[in-house]
Amino acid sequence: MTTADLQIPAAPGTAHQDRQGLDGLAVVRTRAELDAARRAMTGRVVLVPTMGALHEGHRALIRAAHTLGDHVVVSIFVNPTQFGPGEDLDRYPRTTWVDLDMCAEEDVALVFMPKADEMYGPGLGIRVESGDLADRLEGAVRPGHFSGVLTVVAKLFGMVSPQAAVFGEKDYQQLVLIRAMSRELALGVDVYGLPTVRESDGMALSSRNRYLDEHQRVIARALSRALRAGTTVAEHGPARVLAVAQAVLEDEPELIVDYLALTDPELGPEPESGPARLLVAGRLGTTRLIDNLALDLGRAVAGPTETSEAARV
Ligand code: AMP
Repeated sequence: MTTADLQIPAAPGTAHQDRQGLDGLAVVRTRAELDAARRAMTGRVVLVPTMGALHEGHRALIRAAHTLGDHVVVSIFVNPTQFGPGEDLDRYPRTTWVDLDMCAEEDVALVFMPKADEMYGPGLGIRVESGDLADRLEGAVRPGHFSGVLTVVAKLFGMVSPQAAVFGEKDYQQLVLIRAMSRELALGVDVYGLPTVRESDGMALSSRNRYLDEHQRVIARALSRALRAGTTVAEHGPARVLAVAQAVLEDEPELIVDYLALTDPELGPEPESGPARLLVAGRLGTTRLIDNLALDLGRAVAGPTETSEAARV
């Protein structure tokens, strides 16, 4: 795997502070600077890890984080170890100024924007082993992805020492695995999940949506449409849910589906009834998109199952 440094401002406390609206936003790039800033914080610290290219989904995470503690720390790091060969590490969108603007608007106490060397500098290359679940679903398509994710999150937890951290249900398998890691490795960080923030047409917000051209953007809606269609027949059981969702996906032959899966809420075997998760992943050209929804098998659905503003953390 390659390592790529972020394109970030030259030095904290210089260029970005001249920009309107960013005054007072603390941005650090090294562990030493982070340590100093972190030691000055008293009370409960809540971490929101991101890879930047921030959108309204990230904004919702930051707002939810404020409700959970006294200081919100946002990390912005495009983590090379979670990208496989041939994936989009080099072209992953980097929008540093826009990101910092959002952090300033949302009253973030501290932004940590390390370079790859700062995170993966000299050492023995210790990594988190991610367990069996990490080899299924996303992990089956992206070998090693979750070991990279868990490793960087463990490092961030160690460096920032937050009491809590907030992640999106958008990356549901990631959320389940990070929760398990914090619990099983006794990292002492309370992990919260936030429902997926969506466009008005139902599509999940994602930094990768900007790769899509207009035509692909229309086709991409099939992912959330398939999930919604599946949830509307939840009362008829798992086979019907999968058949209905599958039919929607098949209507869009340009969308290459990696998987459509129905699991229990912890991503275990498909339940016959009760709480469940419907997950989908697909590719449009070179862009890979994922989405998922909660559903209750055997029960009629009254309306949309997820809302953008519901801070269910
Ligand atoms: P990323 O920058 O894509 O690594 O995402 C950082 C965090 O934002 C992760 O916890 C994601 O699950 C979360 N996230 C991404 N998109 C959304 C969304 N549409 N709604 C809520 N959270 C999201």
